[in-house]
Amino acid sequence: MKNISIFLLGLFLVLSCQEKTVDTDSLRTESSTKVNYASSLDTGKGIINNANSPHAKLKSIDIGDCRWTEGFWAEKWKIAEEVMIPRMGTILKGDIGHGYNNFKIAAGIQEGEHKGFWWHDGDFYKWMEASTYIYAINKDEKIVAELDEIIEVIAKAQQKDGYLSTPIIIRDDLEPFTNRRYHELYNSGHLMTAACIHNRVTGKTNFLDIAVKHADYLYDLFSPKPDHLKRFGFNQTQIMGLVELYRTTKDKRYLELAEQFINMRGTYKIEDDETTKGYPIGDMVQERVALREETEAVGHAVLALYYYAGAADVYAETGEKALIDALDRLWENVTLKKMYVTGAVGQTHYGRSSRLDKIEEGFIDEYMMPNMTAYNETCANICNSMFNHRMLTLSGNSKHADIMELVLHNSGLSGISLDGTHYYYSNPLRKIEGALDYDKMNVEFPERQPYLQCFCCPPNLVRTIAQSPGWAYSKSENGISVNLYGGNKLETNLLDGTVIKLKQETDYPWNGTVKITIEECKDSPYELLLRIPEWAKGTKVTVNNQSVDNIIPGNFAKIERKWTAGDIILLDMPMETKFVEGHPRIEEVRNQVAVKRGPVVYCIESADLPSQTDITSVYLSSNKMLVPTNRPDFLGGVTTLEGEILIRKDKLEGMYREVSAPIFEKYKTNLIPYYAWSNRGQGEMTVFLPVIWGQ
Ligand SMILES: [Zn+2]
Repeated sequence: MKNISIFLLGLFLVLSCQEKTVDTDSLRTESSTKVNYASSLDTGKGIINNANSPHAKLKSIDIGDCRWTEGFWAEKWKIAEEVMIPRMGTILKGDIGHGYNNFKIAAGIQEGEHKGFWWHDGDFYKWMEASTYIYAINKDEKIVAELDEIIEVIAKAQQKDGYLSTPIIIRDDLEPFTNRRYHELYNSGHLMTAACIHNRVTGKTNFLDIAVKHADYLYDLFSPKPDHLKRFGFNQTQIMGLVELYRTTKDKRYLELAEQFINMRGTYKIEDDETTKGYPIGDMVQERVALREETEAVGHAVLALYYYAGAADVYAETGEKALIDALDRLWENVTLKKMYVTGAVGQTHYGRSSRLDKIEEGFIDEYMMPNMTAYNETCANICNSMFNHRMLTLSGNSKHADIMELVLHNSGLSGISLDGTHYYYSNPLRKIEGALDYDKMNVEFPERQPYLQCFCCPPNLVRTIAQSPGWAYSKSENGISVNLYGGNKLETNLLDGTVIKLKQETDYPWNGTVKITIEECKDSPYELLLRIPEWAKGTKVTVNNQSVDNIIPGNFAKIERKWTAGDIILLDMPMETKFVEGHPRIEEVRNQVAVKRGPVVYCIESADLPSQTDITSVYLSSNKMLVPTNRPDFLGGVTTLEGEILIRKDKLEGMYREVSAPIFEKYKTNLIPYYAWSNRGQGEMTVFLPVIWGQ
């Protein structure tokens, strides 16, 4: 009887599988008849192309519609164009960075072994994507020619069935999708994203063809939901990539697959199997609890935030309430209980989730926020801003743009040196010499490095800087939202197709005055949505010198009227120097404050202290004002905060000792923006400082 049951079950499974195969084949046939998909490509050209996304309230401007013209971001963008991206290209195309060599070897046009990490292909695609954003603005045809040459090699490396991940192609001893630590889907995600951006900017389909062939391979492989592949779906960049590919090609299978990668998680028993060997399981990869039921951000911070960002993309298309409810919940959990004052995320290198799964490079308990051992991978911080960029488009709520701004000015930029040549992988809030054994660590270093063996962060950061003009504005139903401030020009079409041209003039973030001039627009009324940052209490807005009422920090100020060329909007955001304290449950910052001015978080470092000063001896004096001082020739042009600090002179030795009144010495110095730390040799640094009130 038992045997008959097994036979019947087997027959059922065979028939089911056959049925599935037929289904997939029919879809594949549909796809293969669409050889000329290029003729039906979507015309939206946003960084996230949500032009036709039914549940996105704010739509992307086209890549290239906005360009930084002066000031902070124009300078950073110029360094990206002239130094960061060319230099990174030299590294990745040479023998240090391996990226291009691996594709050449996989393509059979070069001898050698695969070098670098499993995810190196993905990092190479990120650099290609960054180059494409630069081309969108500077139109340097050499960039397109270089990319064409690379794309030809990638096409040769791609397997006939569409598979594309060079470590597996090159190595004879490994098979595709047999262990998820090979990070194949991370490579897939960045391939699809970079290819969509390349198509939107250049109009070419050579890169997109590769991505489509690869996505078709993934669809055929994963959509039947084979049991041995249920644990895949990691590392979650492929969800964003698939949605973007759906938006580009309008092929719904890609959206379906993106959603499936969300739906598969949390549906199986969490135990090691053949596909998980060598990489932590459970909360580490967000597989213990289904996303729609999750209440806490857990696991590897990069994986988590790419996952949430991908799910936000899916929601923009499907509008499923359970999905956005989960994302709102997780956003609150990250932002209110696990995020640093710099916008950084991922409190630890090693630890445990609250459900006791082993965690690497990720989230731990709520309010557990160590400063010195904070991991805060540059990628994770950037992912936080990517997630918020998507949430902004879904909700239209400016709180998400506040976080984008916080990350961009602080824990994003801190990942690269001011000259754009040296990198940090982790972004702690305090550094104490000799406290960490860097020899035992993979990615933490006493100084910025010219190359990181794990090269995920540098290209992620430069693509973020390169695409930042595209984050500055969005299109509302009948108008424009101003998400980020910085000297720029915008020339775009409102959703009704009419042209709008405007310019922003400002010395933000050093000065809170922003002047926006309308240069061209339609005759009928429309709205300008100006983000009033949550920190900008007392902001005043005028239109042609007439005061605008109802300016509420933490919201968009909506100004709807008939605009004409020459109209001038002035924002005046008070740039006060503020002490910021943490929630009482953050034990690591009790009785300490961070210093913030506008969106910029400050720190103090050894170069501005007497030699041999322990950073832990530095205290702030509450009644000695820190005076903002503009210093165009210092650290690439910054506003420092100058004033008197206190240095404790009696030393604490041993684990504990009795203490009476400590001895302090006054010292006149300056605090610098956190992002600019570690550009003057090796030394100590801290963001949070104890305060001696009333001294
Ligand atoms: Zn990284």
